[in-house]
Amino acid sequence: MTAYMDHKDLANEIIDTERTRQIADGVHRVLDTIAQAEADAGRKAGSVRLLAATKTRDVGEIMAAIDAGVRMIGENRPQEVVAKAAGLQRLCAERGLSLSATDAAAEQSLPTPNANVAHIPFHLIGQLQANKIGKVLPVVNTIESVDSIDLAEKISRRAVMHGINVGVLLEVNESGEASKSGCDPAHAILLAQRIGSLDGIELQGLMTIGAHVDDERTIRRGFAHLRKTRDQILDAGAPGTEHCTELSMGMTHDMALAIAEGSTIVRVGTAIFGERAFI
Ligand SMILES: *Cc1c(COP(=O)(O)O)cnc(C)c1O
Repeated sequence: MTAYMDHKDLANEIIDTERTRQIADGVHRVLDTIAQAEADAGRKAGSVRLLAATKTRDVGEIMAAIDAGVRMIGENRPQEVVAKAAGLQRLCAERGLSLSATDAAAEQSLPTPNANVAHIPFHLIGQLQANKIGKVLPVVNTIESVDSIDLAEKISRRAVMHGINVGVLLEVNESGEASKSGCDPAHAILLAQRIGSLDGIELQGLMTIGAHVDDERTIRRGFAHLRKTRDQILDAGAPGTEHCTELSMGMTHDMALAIAEGSTIVRVGTAIFGERAFI
C-alpha cells in the first residue's frame, strides 16, 4: 500500500466550492489548450480526447472534473481503482453517465450499459503487476501500460475467463530513459502484432511518456516516432491490429507538442487538479 493512501480518503465524495471551481477552471483551461493545439496543427476540432490522470485525487475531485466536461479518466494504481470505482460508478449513474459499464460490471449488477447513456471510459495508465490483473479487469475498459507479451498473455487469459474484451495500448519507451516502463521501440511492431492476435484483447493503439528533457525537438522526436510506428503497424495489416489507431501521448507539460505530432489522447493531471501533494 502506498503511503499517501493512509493520509487521504480516496473514497471521499464531498469537496468545497472553492476546490470545485479550481478543478472546473483547470478542465476548461486544458480543453482550450487542446482546441488551440488542434487548430495550430491543422487538425480537426475534437480529434484529441482528454483523459484526466486522477492518481492521488479523491472521488469528489474526480466528479468535479467530470462535471466540468472530462469524459475519460485514468488511474495509475490498482489499489486506487478499487478504492474509487464504486463511488464513481454510483455518482456517474446519478448524472446519467456510465463508467466502465463492461459485461463484467453488469454481472456485478453495476449500472446497466445503455446506448443512450454517455460512457466514460476508465483506463489504467500505470504499471500493472500480473498479480493485480484480477483487481482491475472487471473495472477498467482499457489498460494503456502493456509492455510485454507475457503481461498481455496474462491479461488475455483473465479476460477470456471473464468472457470480456479488454482494450490494450502497447506502451513504448520512446525516450529510452531507464526510469520509464515501456517496450524497446525496436520491438514495438512485432510485439503489437503478437498482442493483436490474442483473444479477449483489443489492441487499440500505442502509448508513451514524453522524454523528461527541456529540448522540444527531443520530445517531439519521440512522439513522431510513436506515430510512425502506429502507421507501420496499420500498413502491415496483421490480423488483430486493425483497431490500433490511438496514440496516447502528451501530459501537462508537453500536450501541445504531442498534439502537433498526432496524439489522439492526452493524459493530464497537474493542469487540471494542481500539483500533487503525494508522489
Ligand atoms: C501522472 C501521469 C500523467 C499526468 O501527468 P501530469 O504531468 O500531472 O499531467 C500522465 N500519464 C501517466 C502515465 C501518469 O502517471
